[in-house]
Parts: sequence; C-alpha cells; structure tokens
Amino acid sequence: MNLILLGPPGAGKGTQAKSLCDKFNLCHLSTGDILRNEVTEQTDLGKQAKSIMDKGELVSNNIILEIIKKFINENLSKYQGFLFDGFPRSAEQADMLDTILNDISVSINKVILLDVDQSILLNRIIKRKEEEGRKDDNEDVLKSRLDVYFTQTQPLIDYYSKLKLLEKVDGTKEIIQVNQDINMIMEAI
Ligand code: AMP
Repeated sequence: MNLILLGPPGAGKGTQAKSLCDKFNLCHLSTGDILRNEVTEQTDLGKQAKSIMDKGELVSNNIILEIIKKFINENLSKYQGFLFDGFPRSAEQADMLDTILNDISVSINKVILLDVDQSILLNRIIKRKEEEGRKDDNEDVLKSRLDVYFTQTQPLIDYYSKLKLLEKVDGTKEIIQVNQDINMIMEAI
C-alpha cells in the first residue's frame, strides 16, 4: 500500500504520517525531514538546500530526485509500502514519482488531502515554532511557503482527483478524529 499525504504547511501531515506508518507498517518518506537531516549533518546537499529552505521555496528537482531514489532503494523491502509526506509538491514532481514507481512496479493506492483553512494554518505554525523551533516556521517564510503551496502544489488536487485517487479529510478536527477518518479510508483500500 502506497499513499501520498497532501495538504498545506501546518495541516498536520507529519503528525498523521507517524501514526499511520506505525499502524500500517509503512515507511514514512518525508522530504522535509530528510532535507532537515542533511542540513543538520552539514552535507553538500544540505548546504545547497539550506538557504532555499530558509526562504520557504522549493529546492531543485535534481536534489529531490536524488534523495527520493536513495531513500526508496534503502527501504523498499523493509515495509508494506511508502507514505509520501511533502512530496510530490508540483506537477513535475508528480511525474517524477510516477516514473520512479513504474520502474519498481509499484503504484499509488490513495492520495489523502488534509484540508485546512488558511486562517487556521498561521496559528498552528506559530504554535509549532514554539514547540519544535523550526527556523522556517515564522510569518514571512510561512507566507512564501503558502504561496508555493497554492501555486505549485494545489494543482495536484485536480491531478489526483482525475485519477480517482483523491480522498479529502477535514484536517481542522481533533488529531485523533482526523486519524480515525484516515484509518477508515485505509481500511477500505
Ligand atoms: P516540509 O517539512 O515538508 O514543510 O518541508 C520543509 C522545506 O523543505 C520546504 O519549505 C522546502 O524548502 C523543502 N522541501 C521539502 N520537500 C520538498 C519537495 N518535495 N520539493 C522541494 N522542496 C521541498
């Protein structure tokens, strides 16, 4: 089973991803987490990505392709599938993912959209900054991340709807309720 979690920054993708991966033995592939790790380790890739991440923009597709391929190869045989969190983020990345998955004869079973109104996102992200201290969780960077989401990522909702893969979940509910809503979708696959 392979899933994509789609939704704006602050929608709760990371939180939901962790419990879904535990429950269904999926491998959590978060491009944001992988990139933050590269930055912490001060790798060449991390150094290239850092200033772009600090501005809330998208790092290049070449970098993303490199980390995704490596991550999938390392984890393919260990889990029941992948949960993609924060990837794909654009039409080009959706094509990239199709190609990668085709090569290993795997397909996406569902795309779950965590739907959260823009006005709620800002408060959530300010709270996350207090809790986790993420450098890109501030108002200016958030604005840029939301712009990127609405211009580049949101068109994927249409793309996956047309493929009949999209399931929309109300991401404003309590974490546990959102989790139950997603579990119901997963159990029906
Ligand atoms: P996230 O934790 O998913 O919000 O990602 C944090 C930051 O990492 C983003 O604002 C981007 O700068 C970068 N990033 C994460 N995933 C991608 C991706 N799929 N494509 C390009 N940049 C990404």
